Amino acid sequence: MRTVPVPVDTRGAVLDQYLLDETGRSGRRPVGVAAAAGVEEVRAIVEWARDTGTPLIPRGAGTSLEGHLLARGDELVVDLSPADRILDLAPGDFTATVQPGVTRTRLNAAAAEHGLQFTVDPGADASLGGMAATNASGTTSVRYGGMRSNVLALQAVFADGSVARLGRAVRKSASGYDLRDLLIGSAGTLGVITELTVRLHPIPEWLRALRISFPTITAAVAAAVDMLGLALPVSRLELVDAASMGAINAFRGTSYPVSPALFIDLEAASGAAASADESEILRVCRAHDALDIATARDHSARHGLWEDRHTLFFALKAAHPGNRFLVTDTAVPLSRIPGAVAAATGFGAELGLAVSVAGHIGDGNVHVVVPYRDATAEAAQRFSDLVVRHALDVGGTATGEHGIGLAKKRYLAEEHGTAAEIMKVIKRALDPGNLLNPGKVVDI
Ligand SMILES: Cc1cc2nc3c(=O)[nH]c(=O)nc-3n(C[C@H](O)[C@H](O)[C@H](O)COP(=O)(O)OP(=O)(O)OC[C@H]3O[C@@H](n4cnc5c(N)ncnc54)[C@H](O)[C@@H]3O)c2cc1C
Repeated sequence: MRTVPVPVDTRGAVLDQYLLDETGRSGRRPVGVAAAAGVEEVRAIVEWARDTGTPLIPRGAGTSLEGHLLARGDELVVDLSPADRILDLAPGDFTATVQPGVTRTRLNAAAAEHGLQFTVDPGADASLGGMAATNASGTTSVRYGGMRSNVLALQAVFADGSVARLGRAVRKSASGYDLRDLLIGSAGTLGVITELTVRLHPIPEWLRALRISFPTITAAVAAAVDMLGLALPVSRLELVDAASMGAINAFRGTSYPVSPALFIDLEAASGAAASADESEILRVCRAHDALDIATARDHSARHGLWEDRHTLFFALKAAHPGNRFLVTDTAVPLSRIPGAVAAATGFGAELGLAVSVAGHIGDGNVHVVVPYRDATAEAAQRFSDLVVRHALDVGGTATGEHGIGLAKKRYLAEEHGTAAEIMKVIKRALDPGNLLNPGKVVDI
């Protein structure tokens, strides 16, 4: 039999590191880990996999939350973190072309030298390839959109070993079927992404961050929805509930009020505009009985405030040692946000679970983190089912950004109906041997 065309690590201690994901969900040991530094290595591995019938799991930074990377036991992991070169930074075009292992913070550091930024921000320091493969979004998507809005072109290796360019480095194109968007969000099941051209955006000069506490979560959500209705130029609009604020205080040593809060970033074209917009935000929040208001204007205060928000998942992990975690990720139409938040807290209380609600509320994306142990695993799954059913009933989706992976496959048919069957047709056409991340997103 042909041997793998690149070195493969098969040491048990190394493979054990691939057993768990960030939520504590577990899979089996893969057969090995092959590192790929570029398209030629990826193509050689894929051709070998095709010829030997060995399934592959492409891997970026390993921060996904829905079991995307967990192995059945017969797969080879293709580690793309060594493919980490920024190939071209074109400030005049507001674009960068990168290999898939480049992380978003590295790209941002390089772009900042030109006064530019890569805006998609899932909090974790994910790889650009993994972010495209999950269609990641995050705190800034309320203004700049997620990966589908920011990836202009891709290069990918398909299961038959062919290499194709999908899309062009232009802001719009009406040419042919959109295969670029098909690969975005495909979770490594349709092709291995080996290069991306992404949009960069100017770093605005006038930025302010605000943290505003409210007496109830309903008041915080209502204030957020009003801000959207008034078209206030928020570039981040995040909801954090009281339990999460308590966890942040304990983890970060802060002393924020332990009540529901909005974390907001505001961007403006001038100092006068920033002050006017800030006043309007405060007026809206006071109309909803805001309790406590903090504004951060300089870089380090803003950075500190957003660090507090971004560490939330790890703060909750620290608050519930020894637990595994279920993270719901539904997105609903904006008018349904208050109902979705109320339903989630109600289901949590009914099932006796310690739920923490947060979310990219400006996108209608509600996250609920549920710590659980073996004894409460069934209740946690029931909670997830109820929350997703509620979202689907009001016209929403089972996952706004984390993706279907392995854990949310159970909701795919209910959400998509006939379209779920079309997804299988596409998977069979592009990967008839079911070699690319098998068992994720769709079963064929
Ligand atoms: C604390 C925390 C907060 C988070 N917050 C957010 C958030 O706000 N928004 C959000 O969207 N996500 C969030 N996530 C989830 C995670 O960061 C994203 O899913 C991210 O996009 C995964 O990128 P990665 O590089 O870690 O990919 P991995 O986890 O390595 O892989 C994810 C999927 O992509 C596939 N893949 C990876 N690289 C490639 C490639 N080159 N070609 C083809 N397929 C590939 C894998 O097979 C897998 O299916 C969070 C995670 C954590 C831990």
